[in-house]
Amino acid sequence: MPELAEVEFFRKQWDCGLKQRVLSVDLHASKRIFRGTETKQLQQTITGATLLESKAHGKQMLFRFSKDAWLGLHLGMTGKLRVEKPGFTPEKHDHLVLQQKKHSLVFRDPRLFGRVLFHIGKDEPAWWSKRATDLLSKEFTAEFLEKLLQRHRKAPLKAVLLMQHRFPGVGNWMADEILWQTKLNPKMAAGDVSPTLAKKLHKQIQFICAEALRIIGHDFSDPPESWLFQHRWRKGGHCPRCESSLKHATVGGRTTCWCPKCQPVVE
Ligand SMILES: [Zn+2]
Repeated sequence: MPELAEVEFFRKQWDCGLKQRVLSVDLHASKRIFRGTETKQLQQTITGATLLESKAHGKQMLFRFSKDAWLGLHLGMTGKLRVEKPGFTPEKHDHLVLQQKKHSLVFRDPRLFGRVLFHIGKDEPAWWSKRATDLLSKEFTAEFLEKLLQRHRKAPLKAVLLMQHRFPGVGNWMADEILWQTKLNPKMAAGDVSPTLAKKLHKQIQFICAEALRIIGHDFSDPPESWLFQHRWRKGGHCPRCESSLKHATVGGRTTCWCPKCQPVVE
């Protein structure tokens, strides 16, 4: 499932279509990724509009067009953005294609867990402006994090890190990486994180977000060998820090990987 940096990578794929008009829109209106969206209005408005700007926040993307049109995309589990030659004929899973003179901008989603949103208005749509605090913004401080952990004090840390309205863009691998790099056990109750540990955790969250954006968001490269990322799914995977065998179990509803030696259970 695409997380923060993968989403950023896909957002940039449509950059070649910036400042260019959309000649026509192909879409599969009956697919569930369009649920609640006025597809006729989307099609009519985006046709003839110019793609002006795009941004990503967590797992969401927003594309701004002329004619006060805004397109929101969520990649779900298998969504991808790519570019094809002009006049491209959409295939079965290419549910939204913006046809331009020089390119076709394609949104593909085989498993249909993604989402397409549409809005017309002078200001950003409400579903965008109401979003959670960006993890790399100056509002996301160690104190802010501490309060957040206290609000969910009984939940395991891993489950809290997966809350999209709290930690936008953090998914399964990023949550595991953050906890492994901070040496915190995924099952530890969020409320047991001391102020000192919260500072450390805050630093690691920002470090991992920034590094993932720099490495994966740039050209989809993998994070360094020294990260858990490279070892978590390997058969007989070992902790790159202490060489202990890695553990796997379901925590917070997702398969979680951790090092029993570096991330011991705190009694
Ligand atoms: Zn270890």
